[in-house]
Amino acid sequence: MRRQLLALAAGFALLANSLPAAAQGPALAQTPRQPTYETAAALRDKALQDDTAWKLTESLTTDIGHRLVGSPGMARAKDWAVKTFEDLGFTNIKVEEFPKPSWTRGAESASIVAPYEWSLAMIGLGGSVPTPAKGIEAEIVVFPAYADLLAAPEGSLKGKIAVVTAPMTRTLDGAGYSAAGIARRSGPSEAAKRGAVAYLVRSISTSDLRSPHTGGTSYAEGVPKIPAAAIGVPDAELIEKLAAKGPVKIKLNMASTVNEKAVAWNISGDIVGSSRPEEVIIIGGHLDSWDVGTGAIDDASGIGITTAAAKLIGDLPRHPARTIRVVMWGSEERGGSGDAFERMHRDNLANFVVASESDLGADSIYALMLPKGSVRAPQFADLPALMAPLKIMVSRDPALFGGADTSEIQAAGVPVFNLRQSALRYFDLHHSPDDTLDKVDPIQLKQNVAAWVVVLWVIADSDIDFRALAK
Ligand SMILES: [Zn+2]
Repeated sequence: MRRQLLALAAGFALLANSLPAAAQGPALAQTPRQPTYETAAALRDKALQDDTAWKLTESLTTDIGHRLVGSPGMARAKDWAVKTFEDLGFTNIKVEEFPKPSWTRGAESASIVAPYEWSLAMIGLGGSVPTPAKGIEAEIVVFPAYADLLAAPEGSLKGKIAVVTAPMTRTLDGAGYSAAGIARRSGPSEAAKRGAVAYLVRSISTSDLRSPHTGGTSYAEGVPKIPAAAIGVPDAELIEKLAAKGPVKIKLNMASTVNEKAVAWNISGDIVGSSRPEEVIIIGGHLDSWDVGTGAIDDASGIGITTAAAKLIGDLPRHPARTIRVVMWGSEERGGSGDAFERMHRDNLANFVVASESDLGADSIYALMLPKGSVRAPQFADLPALMAPLKIMVSRDPALFGGADTSEIQAAGVPVFNLRQSALRYFDLHHSPDDTLDKVDPIQLKQNVAAWVVVLWVIADSDIDFRALAK
């Protein structure tokens, strides 16, 4: 993995050095270009030399630390966000507060107690109820696939701990996460419906290391709430093998607390449009994180990438026609920020031209997916040429998803685009203690900013109407 990263890094370094503006010589085709081309190309090349995204990612993870909703870190992050927007020249800065009950992890542990003692690498799922103070000790039932749990008859898990050991597939586009994540989100209630007293899930992770991966879970209405935790991948495989040979008993201890009165914030800043400022492009990353790492790839880097791209445009002597709004979403991991934003801006959604969130780490972007019906629009004729030096394809497939926090406004009719990052490494790290700054590659981070700045400029200085094109 390291070797691959270094090779990529060398590639982009070469690229950056070989791109002095308009110095490519007469051998290149003199293609007629759109009016937006020169500025977009200059912004791209500047982004490849700019370290704003790195500085922001470094500061958020180092100066602030983890940012679980309701934690002191998240309150510090709110002030950091306002100051960052002010320092970088954004205007119309807003702090939009919404109610969000917070969940705080307590002491937690799990171990095999029979056929022998073995301490498990475990982590409680976000939102899990605690165990009784003396813990829960019970025999386990192992399900190698989530579908096997769903097929288990009612009452069949009475008094047992259900364990789902389904693996997650590593894919470039992260599709493995959608397929595997359901076992974490819905597993506890499905197990409880069948009588289980606790639930364990193999980490939703592509890593083969013991670090366990947390993530949110939620309980279905009218079903008993049972404690739920993830276990490291090698431990899940051990349990599966042991269970094939005979009865296995596990002891689980978890403490956690909930504050029903807590709040969270969406914080935004604008690069105000020069001629049609009421038309707004919504971008951003999420400010909150899990509590076990410093949330570097999830999602300090998304904050860094989108803020840096907007700032590069803000520094131009003439702003684009439309406004670019960076939203630092306040509760992605525990849910609720997209919903709160949609409620607060419901009367104004028609003015949102398009939306997208950067929330898949900091590795290179490989594809741009545009809103439905727009890939052949004349305003986008230069996008393939602008993206080619970054090794990004302009996909013929439309964007179906703009990010977790833009889902609610998308459902209410706001078009979305997607700059797709390589997810090959992301799910080794995310939601785990290993989500730390050292995993962010500064050169790939710059490639991300370069891609964002091109797309933002081209859309923001155009009159393209995605809603009309989608019809
Ligand atoms: Zn995220």
